[in-house]
Formats: sequence, structure tokens, C-alpha cells
Amino acid sequence: AAALRKTFEAGTTKPLKWRLEQLDALEHLLREREADIVEALRQDLRKPANESYGAEIGMNLTDIAYTKKRLAGWMKPERVPTALIAQPGRSVIVREPLGVVMIIAPWNYPFQLCVLPLIGALAAGNCALVKPSEVSTATSALVAEWFPKYLDRSAVQVMEGGVPETTALLREKWDHIFYTGNGTVARIVMEAAAKHLTPVTLELGGKSPCIVDETADLDAAAKRIVFGKFYNAGQTCVAPDYVLVQDSVHDALVNRMVSTIREFYGDEPQRSPDFGRIINERHHARLTRLLDGANVVTGGETDAADRYIAPTIVRDVSPSDPMMQEEIFGPILPVIAVPSVEAAITQVNRGPKPLALYVFSRSKTNQHRVISTTSAGGSTINHVWMHVGVPSLPFGGVGESGMGAYHGKYSFDTFSHRRAVLRKPNLSEPPIVYPPYAPWKLKWLKRMI
Ligand code: NAD
Repeated sequence: AAALRKTFEAGTTKPLKWRLEQLDALEHLLREREADIVEALRQDLRKPANESYGAEIGMNLTDIAYTKKRLAGWMKPERVPTALIAQPGRSVIVREPLGVVMIIAPWNYPFQLCVLPLIGALAAGNCALVKPSEVSTATSALVAEWFPKYLDRSAVQVMEGGVPETTALLREKWDHIFYTGNGTVARIVMEAAAKHLTPVTLELGGKSPCIVDETADLDAAAKRIVFGKFYNAGQTCVAPDYVLVQDSVHDALVNRMVSTIREFYGDEPQRSPDFGRIINERHHARLTRLLDGANVVTGGETDAADRYIAPTIVRDVSPSDPMMQEEIFGPILPVIAVPSVEAAITQVNRGPKPLALYVFSRSKTNQHRVISTTSAGGSTINHVWMHVGVPSLPFGGVGESGMGAYHGKYSFDTFSHRRAVLRKPNLSEPPIVYPPYAPWKLKWLKRMI
């Protein structure tokens, strides 16, 4: 971090020109290295090219284009009104970079989650150290190889490694730590950050519910839920973790989801080029255990040698089942029948605040009821995780699903300090604020506030 700090202190990263150059460089990397990125993700997760392009290249390109277009405007000092007591004067908010930041990424979208926070860090004029996940080895190596070839090496560094390396990095002083991953490690990160009073953004996960009521368009719901759940073989922080469906349409929804799985991945999903694999043996074993004794409607097959778990739907799940105790983070979808939307809401509100919550309903009343009586990082109504791709919406969790947010302007804000600046003229002023105090001065003071 010492070299990065030197660069930051030299002021290299502050000009708009430098920031735009770095964003251009990232864009070139994404466009010119597309094939390498897709290949690394195939090695790590057998990620289909369409999913790699959509989530790990396209989304970054969208954010870069959005940021480049607006960055000059975001950087301008923002005029705000000046209170009477401070008159005459002019008040502005100046956005200044935080300094040297650390970005720690997980393995499930291992490339996107290195790049997307970095866009914000660079746009805001910071130096950054990026620590990719050691679990997704091919992508980690790719990031370590290509970032230095495209980006200003004096301002962006990549450090590969696992727990010991990250633990050592966390001992250093950073001006911000941006962590994406699980809640257990997030607590370790926050504790380490506390020692230096370093602010943190924590992008975490949890069990994101999906509520389907009896007015929902079941064909659309089935297609969209299956797509959102089995994308990246279920290893998506905003995947619908489980479905709460009104009992009158439970069977109809389940049947449609079963046929959608066949339509998407064929009779043998293991042979489908469009269905990914579980990241490693440990997670494969964990998911296989969750299937013990489950009432499987479709799927359920596992193949450890191929790290394959079939797209699986499970019914008759009770809230006390192991698969309802932890984030599933794999291609297993429990479907739970509930008598009403209120019952679904009650069940959701018993758990921690999720990263995402989805509601499928044609009833505006029910849509509104779900949104206004629950809390979640974000929501899409009548679809899954589409809100994440809208750069004008903040992306982040609440409660146990995380703190802070990013994407587009929110990334710039996350990596900027809003500095308050009041400029006063040297005019002579009425002496009411200065000693010696007097009752008439107090009277005037009270009038002005
Ligand atoms: P992971 O195991 O790759 O860990 C994430 C990072 O933490 C890695 O870089 C790893 O090296 C580091 N790490 C692990 N143990 C550490 C320790 N003891 N000390 C310091 N650093 C340590 O990934 P994961 O945590 O299994 O990721 C999956 C989780 O991430 C899920 O809960 C998922 O919902 C969540 N997630 C959230 C988002 C989001 O944007 N909110 C996105 C993707 C994943």
C-alpha cells in the first residue's frame, strides 16, 4: 500500500483526465480480453459465454459508459443554499477522493466483482488494491495478469491470495475497504477496519425470498424464476433463494417451473452447455447434504467428479429444514405453500433483511403491501434481479445483507468524501456573534436561527 499512497499523495489520480483514461483502459481490457475472460470463467465455474458476457463484461461496460458520460458533472462542486446565520457566504460540497482503497472480491462473479467496484474507485480518483478470490483461481490469475497491463500500475495493484494474505492486508491502513462475500468474513473485515477507523462497504448475501400470489402471471413467473435461480448454477447473491407461493397456485407454478427447466436445459441438464457447475468440492458436498431427505419434484441428481448438481425443485419444505437455515447458493429451489400474501410477509419478516426480495403479482395492492411491509436491499416486481442492472439504482444490502451501496453514481459517492466548504467574503459584519456578549446580541441571534 505504501507505493499506492505515494501515488495518491502526488495527486496523480485527481484530474478528470486521468480518471477518464483509466475508465477507457478498463473498457479496452473488457473488449480486447473478452475471450480470455470467458475462458477463465469457464474454467472456474463452467460459466456459459452468454452469462459471462451478460454479468461479467456487459454489466461493467454499461457502468463505465454511464460513469464516463456523467463524471465531469459529478466532480463539479455542488452549490447548496447557505443558512442565514452564515450569510453572506457561498456553500459548496466538494467531492474528494478517499485515498487508497482495498477491494476484496468473492468467487461467484469473480471478474465483475473486481471490476465494478474499481470503476467507482477510479472514477472518484482513488488508488486501489484489488484482492480477487483465491477460490476462483483462473479468474484471479487473469485479473493479476491483465489489470497491470492496462491500468496505471502506480495506482492500481492486484494482490492474489487467500486467508493469510488477506489477513495481512487487513492489518494495513486503508482509506476504505469494499468487501463482497459472506457475513462471517464481513465481521472479520469490519473488526480489522475498526482498528484504523476505516469505513467499509459490505456487500453480502442471505436468503432472498420470492413471493408469488394467486394473481401472478404464472407462465412469466415460472420462466423468470427458473432463469434467475439457475443462472450461474444458483451461485448468485441475488438469486431467488426460495419461493413462497399462495397455495391455490402452488401446483400450477411448480408444474410450469418443471417444464421451463426442461425447455431451458433439456432432458439431461448435465449435457447442457447453458448450465454451470459448482465452484468446488466443498460447496458441492454442502449442497448435496442439503438434498438429504428432501421431497424432490425435479432434479436432485449430483455428480461430484463433474461438480454437477441438477437444477432442482423441492416441495413440502418446512421452515426448520436445513435448506431454510442458510443461504442455499446453488441450484436448489425450495417451494413453500402459504395461505396468503400476509402469511408470506410474516415469514419473510421473521428472518434477517435479505439482499433482494421479489414479488410476482398482478395486484398493485399486493405489490405495494409486500414492498411497504418488508425490508430488503432491493426488489424487482414481476421479475428477478433486473434491478441490479440499472446503474441509476443503488445496489447494496440492508441489515445482515450488508451496508453501503454502489453502481453508477452510488459507486462514485461510496469512494468520495463530501467535503463541506463555506466561502466567506471579507466584508465588515454586524458584531452580533462576537464577544463581549450582550442581551441584545442574543435577541438577534435567536431571530436569525
Ligand atoms: P469467498 O470465499 O471468495 O470470500 C470472499 C473474499 O473474502 C475472498 O477474497 C476471500 O479471500 C476473502 N476471505 C475469506 N476468508 C477470509 C478471512 N478469514 N479473512 C479475510 N478475508 C477472507 O466468497 P464467499 O464469501 O463464499 O462468497 C459468497 C457470498 O458472497 C454469498 O453469501 C453471496 O451471497 C455473497 N455475495 C454478495 C454479493 C453482493 O454483491 N452483495 C455478490 C456476490 C456474492
